[in-house]
Amino acid sequence: MKIFRFLSESGEASLGIYDKDGQRQARTIQGNLFGDYRLTNEVAKVSRTLPLLTPCNIIALGLNYRKHADETGIGYPEIPVIFSKATSSVIGTGEPILLPLAGPDKVDYEGELAIVIGTKIKNATSQEALEAVLGYTCANDVSARDWQMEKQHNQWVRGKSFDTFCPLGPCLVTRDELPEPNNLRIRTVLNGSIMQDSFTADMIFDVPTLISSLSRSMTLLPGTVILTGTPEGVGFTRHPPVYLNKGDVITVEIEGIGSLTNPVGVEQKGTPETSR
Ligand code: MG
Repeated sequence: MKIFRFLSESGEASLGIYDKDGQRQARTIQGNLFGDYRLTNEVAKVSRTLPLLTPCNIIALGLNYRKHADETGIGYPEIPVIFSKATSSVIGTGEPILLPLAGPDKVDYEGELAIVIGTKIKNATSQEALEAVLGYTCANDVSARDWQMEKQHNQWVRGKSFDTFCPLGPCLVTRDELPEPNNLRIRTVLNGSIMQDSFTADMIFDVPTLISSLSRSMTLLPGTVILTGTPEGVGFTRHPPVYLNKGDVITVEIEGIGSLTNPVGVEQKGTPETSR
C-alpha cells in the first residue's frame, strides 16, 4: 500500500490511500501502523496532506553512496558513518524548507531513501532487519553546510537539524511493494534541473546491512526513521557550489514511491506553526 496521512475536510488527521480521483479523497485506514491496521471502505475528503509521522528517532548515514564518497574526496567508510537529525525538523511534502534566521547561507539538498522501522529490533541479522521494516519513503536530508562543517567544526547534528530540514513523504510504501529497496532509481530536481540521478544499488551498506549494523548498538524502536545516505550531485561539491535560495522548488523522486516536493522560504521570528 501507498499510505498517506492527511487532514480531512472534517478536520481529522487520518491515514489512508488515495482513490482513483487522485488526491481529493482517500479510503481511510483504521488502527495503528505500528500494530494492527486495516484498510476500510470508508472514504474521506482530503483537505491537505500531512507529514507521515513524527519519528521517535532519526538516524542518518553519511557517505553511503560510492560516487558521493568519491565526489567529497573522502574514502569509503569501513563501518557506517552515522549522525542524528532532530525529530522537530520533520515536515511533509508541499511544506516550505525555511532558510534559518541563525544565518546559514549554505543550505544544501540531499535526496535519500528513508526506511521506517515497524517492529522493535536489537542485534538483528540482515534477514531480521529487513523483516522489521514497515516501509519506505523519500527524504531530503537538508544540510546547512556552514554549520555542519565550519561553525560546528564537523559536528554534523546542528547543521542537519534546523527546523524544516527533514522533509519526508509523500507517502509510506509498505515493504511488500518494494521487495528490492537497493534497486531503485533516485533523483533530485531543483527548479526543473536534475541535480542527482542515481540508483540505490550504489549504496556502500545496503538496506538490510545498515539496519542490522545500527541494531547492534541501539534498539531500533517502531517509528525510527533511517536516512540511507545521498548519491552524488549535492550542491556543495559543485563548481561553483549550488545552495538553496528563497523561491526555489526542490523535489526528491524515488522509483516506486513518488515525489517529495518542497518550496524554499525564509524563517520568520517566533515559534513556527506546525502541521504535525
Ligand atoms: Mg545525508
